[in-house]
Amino acid sequence: MRILISNDDGYLAPGLVALAAALAPIADITVVAPDSNRSGSSNSLTLDRPLSLYQAANGFYFVNGTPSDCVHLALTGGLSVKPDLVVSGINQGQNMGDDTLYSGTVAAATEGYLFGIPAIAFSQVEHGWQHLDAAAQVAREIVERRFDALQKPFLLNVNVPNKPYADLRRIVATRLGKRHVSEPVIKMQDPHGRDIYWVGPTGAAKVAGEGTDFYATQQGWVSVTPLQIDLTHAAQLAALAESLE
Ligand code: MN
Repeated sequence: MRILISNDDGYLAPGLVALAAALAPIADITVVAPDSNRSGSSNSLTLDRPLSLYQAANGFYFVNGTPSDCVHLALTGGLSVKPDLVVSGINQGQNMGDDTLYSGTVAAATEGYLFGIPAIAFSQVEHGWQHLDAAAQVAREIVERRFDALQKPFLLNVNVPNKPYADLRRIVATRLGKRHVSEPVIKMQDPHGRDIYWVGPTGAAKVAGEGTDFYATQQGWVSVTPLQIDLTHAAQLAALAESLE
């Protein structure tokens, strides 16, 4: 099996190193990741400047671009890889509910999916890399499952609680929950006295009942959500069509 690995925390991130180490014994791996932390970059592609591909001493490739740039470059001629699977992560911090729209971790996997390649995004629920070895072991086990029963390509979003491996007993299928709206921006002043703003934290979980990713990880389970990209609001389509007649 050939696996292309990327992330959004950058090529030096512990989560990427742990994921690559966990998958190297079971697959032919290629790592292509951003040269810096590009969390929150969603599916953006860099179109206003060229991209460069560098290789680090450990063999990882890194790009002065976004997660989507990395996977796009690897799949469209920057590298001669033809992966059977694209994996992304392991991200520092959860990507649940609405997070999936902003996430560069999910975006790297999505880029593979858009090219017809099965893809899996991995995130740890909490920041700080606690029990990263357990998340990496779970990631390997999930990759090994292959999911032959699923229609290909599939796009899976995995969130792993920061727990010791022995405590991660259940892996459950979930749907995305939903968050409250984000917290307000944080207003500060720069050294010249001008107003500047930091984007505030995400909102707390709002739709977090049984069956959601929020609920599963709250129970201490590993959450796996199958994603799709078609944003068409099917239930509103008929009403819209009628209103336009
Ligand atoms: Mn990140």
